[in-house]
Amino acid sequence: MEPPKIWREKRGKYLAMGVECLDCMIKQFPFTENCSKCGSENVKEYKLATTGKVLHFSTVTQTTDEMMGSTPYLIAIIELDDGVKVTGQIVDCNLNEAKESMNVRMVFRVLARNGSEGLIRYGYKFAPI
Ligand SMILES: [Zn+2]
Repeated sequence: MEPPKIWREKRGKYLAMGVECLDCMIKQFPFTENCSKCGSENVKEYKLATTGKVLHFSTVTQTTDEMMGSTPYLIAIIELDDGVKVTGQIVDCNLNEAKESMNVRMVFRVLARNGSEGLIRYGYKFAPI
């Protein structure tokens, strides 16, 4: 991943910031300057809920070179307690122990390493509660 993209995504990936529309009150992620439901520009950042539950999950066995050292791993769609749905890796969990409806909490971890001397990207993942 290129440094400009990492910079653009830092508030979402590093700080877990979403956006709330002050007109229709829906919460969204990732950050957008216009509400995806009503188009309003009257939005504000807010801190995503840090707990939620697994809606769906899958085991990843093939991925990009920078992630291959981590395979196999679990990837899931998580519904946070504030209703926002996010995609994230499940960590600290054996592959055969993941379950739908499992309660999880957001944790801050290394997402990927771009070579031995390249960028290390950090962000959120999810661990069972
Ligand atoms: Zn709206």
